Amino acid sequence: MVAQNHSEQSHKEKLDVLESTQTIIHEALTKLGYPEEVYELLKEPLRILTVRIPVRMDDGSIKIFTGYRAQHNDSVGPTKGGVRFHPDVTETEVKALSIWMSLKAGIVDLPYGGGKGGIVCDPREMSFRELEALSRGYVRAISQIVGPTKDIPAPDVFTNSQIMAWMMDEYSRIREFDSPGFITGKPLVLGGSHGRETATAKGVTICIREAAKKKGIALEGARVVVQGFGNAGSFLAKFMHDAGAKVVGISDAYGALYDPDGLDIDYLLDRRDSFGTVTKLFKNTITNKELLELDCDILVPAAIENQITEENAHNIKASIVVEAANGPTTLRATEILTERGVLIVPDVLASSGGVTVSYFEWVQNNQGYYWSEKEVEEKLEEVLVKAFNNVYNTAQNRKVNMRLAAYMVGVRKMAEASRFRGWI
Ligand code: NAD
Repeated sequence: MVAQNHSEQSHKEKLDVLESTQTIIHEALTKLGYPEEVYELLKEPLRILTVRIPVRMDDGSIKIFTGYRAQHNDSVGPTKGGVRFHPDVTETEVKALSIWMSLKAGIVDLPYGGGKGGIVCDPREMSFRELEALSRGYVRAISQIVGPTKDIPAPDVFTNSQIMAWMMDEYSRIREFDSPGFITGKPLVLGGSHGRETATAKGVTICIREAAKKKGIALEGARVVVQGFGNAGSFLAKFMHDAGAKVVGISDAYGALYDPDGLDIDYLLDRRDSFGTVTKLFKNTITNKELLELDCDILVPAAIENQITEENAHNIKASIVVEAANGPTTLRATEILTERGVLIVPDVLASSGGVTVSYFEWVQNNQGYYWSEKEVEEKLEEVLVKAFNNVYNTAQNRKVNMRLAAYMVGVRKMAEASRFRGWI
């Protein structure tokens, strides 16, 4: 019963995410002057494939897994987006996430549309061999609709470079030639890119720096609070610390740490486990709720969705909120924060560093010529500074909040490309 309630709740939240994404897309297209049929085209993915994957488990039994691949819009170029392995994956979630990928690609101006995939499974309870069989089975099941010039997968929740390597190998076997450009997020030896692991946090760091400039806040000495100490949050805390900011608060799923004089980030990084947990080692913790309302200049939600809501938006003290996580702020909270003069850097912009470096990986695979870490960083910097300013200027000129501005920038190229192709 509890499990059923949890899954109903989770399904409802995913429906909310899809519906609020559609609402903002509609608003963005209306502001840009596009007719209703453009919205009708873009409100759902062009195609979504549901697959059933049989896997022989270690105990000899056969288990059938359900997987999805959604392709939102391929008018600009091939679709691109991660594959997540999680027990709560649903078709609705995969659809919404594929739309977000289209928006991100539009915002950072990549020659892609959005895609997303997922398999309903719990990789924490599966052996290495079972995971390999599932990864290869998924690629066989979706091979008709993916490929280096069709749809390019990447890692997401609970998938990593090893899983990308198995998937790339399976695809290459099916096609009978080496296809590194089929998937990104690969190990370096198989054509992965330098800088992929830290790309999201680097992108968030660039957005924070640009937002701080607009607000006249010096990064040196700025008080930063980061919710979540996983892949995105921990690297970000480190980059902020290295930039001279004072990281006064961090958290994980179990609680939060606060020190007005600045936390010892290197020590915390050293002690955190692979799931981004560190606060269990300390006695004097505060709650995640208290963390969000701490006195600080910059707040970075980098954990889960729906953290800043109507209930706490009035109590947020930060003057800049940069969303490293997907969907941490509700639509109503966005309005409240904007009315209060808080500068929000929305998720679709702030967390686009990952897909940008994925794109760099694909370019390097296609040309067979590989870049140094420095080159990757310089190119990422250029792309994100341009994207940030494009969204910021759109918000200023159109007198809209940063989220709506980001969506306006994100949908425009897709809408134009669909029109030039004669689809609408
Ligand atoms: P992760 O699993 O590595 O870390 C998540 C962190 O959040 C952990 O520290 C965990 O303890 C904490 N957390 C979990 N539940 C929490 C709760 N209820 N309250 C407070 N903290 C909680 O995940 P990640 O890869 O760092 O991703 C974090 C967010 O950033 C997600 O929304 C993800 O979609 C988004 N994101 C990540 C990337 C990336 O490249 N990692 C890219 C784009 C977007």
